[in-house]
Amino acid sequence: MWDERNTADLVTQLVSWRRMFHRNPELSTKERETSITILDALRKMEIEVVTFTNHFGLCGIIQGKYPGPVVALRTDMDALPITEANDVSYHSQTSGVMHACGHDGHMAIMLGVAKMFSLYHGEFAGTIKLIFQPAEEAAPVGGAGLIIEEGILEDVDVIFGLHLWPDLPCGHIGIRQGPLMAASDRITIKILGQAAHAGQPQHGVDGITIAADVIQGLGQLMNRQIDPLETATLSIGNIQGGERYNVIASEVLLDGTVRTLGEIVRRQMPLKIERALAGITAAQGGHYELDYQFGYPVLNNWAEPTGLIIKAARDVVGSEAVHGNVKPVLAAEDFGRYLEKIPGAFFWLGCAKEGQENYHLHSSHFDIDEDALLIGAKIMHQLVLKALVHYDKEGKR
Ligand SMILES: [Zn+2]
Ligand SMILES: [Zn+2]
Repeated sequence: MWDERNTADLVTQLVSWRRMFHRNPELSTKERETSITILDALRKMEIEVVTFTNHFGLCGIIQGKYPGPVVALRTDMDALPITEANDVSYHSQTSGVMHACGHDGHMAIMLGVAKMFSLYHGEFAGTIKLIFQPAEEAAPVGGAGLIIEEGILEDVDVIFGLHLWPDLPCGHIGIRQGPLMAASDRITIKILGQAAHAGQPQHGVDGITIAADVIQGLGQLMNRQIDPLETATLSIGNIQGGERYNVIASEVLLDGTVRTLGEIVRRQMPLKIERALAGITAAQGGHYELDYQFGYPVLNNWAEPTGLIIKAARDVVGSEAVHGNVKPVLAAEDFGRYLEKIPGAFFWLGCAKEGQENYHLHSSHFDIDEDALLIGAKIMHQLVLKALVHYDKEGKR
């Protein structure tokens, strides 16, 4: 059983794990050392660990003495290609790589939960699976698909995950039933014109002016062709084109992303974009190629698991700090892939430092209030206990 008198030791461990991961960040699909560290930590707690041959993901399995449901928790493991700008003792030791999305904290919380349940010595009914997932930041493919392919979710009754969230104060929790985070798709558009002397544009087809029209046109498409009550946004984040200041550009590349909260509107996007591109490029005598890649799906929280998170969080931080109907965001998370397969829910764990400037996820200044680690571990611990009872169906005993 978990004993509150162990809290001080747990806090020390949580902070030390998080800082160790923070010092040693690894990019998506390259999480080798991170994986070894986790394996060692879990084995020290005498927890059974499954490793895989195709990637650095892991699954810790804590078996109760009595039959019961299987409850899974998931953390991500990867860092980002960002140079850390924080001046802290646990600064990244790998130049150009940083845990700027809080996955260091997620892993520490998961190890904290492992520690808490290792003290039960199996005195519970059911099984707890602790999934360490690689490559969350590797959109559009993502590591969730790799974990699903391993088949370790097949006996899982429910899965939970969390994300440290700098838009909420430390000690607060955000969640909602239904869509919480967006589907994220990638669009790559190649515009093909024809080169000519800049003083004689009539001899060519100007890829740059077509690109300008395409950007305007896609904006109009989002305004006029999408149900105003739907949530959808399209952003072009990168343009490359042309060769020289005095040559009409023959080729321009536009690279961007489409974010949606509903599957119907999402599936309509490729055709609508294609139609706009065809009209706009033809009007100036050019051509186009469109590559629309479907990426992470909408993260859709299931009703019952959402209710369990709200109850568990209230037990730990009190009702006032639990925001049970937050506005969704159009950032994406590949946890949504698990929720397409099995019941589960995902929540945001506030980590903003009080009275200080807080930076967004993926900022080179991103940092957390480390008090959030204990809160996260305690909520997950409560949540697993509640889920083991809630999903315990007759006949499993
Ligand atoms: Zn991220
Ligand atoms: Zn993240």
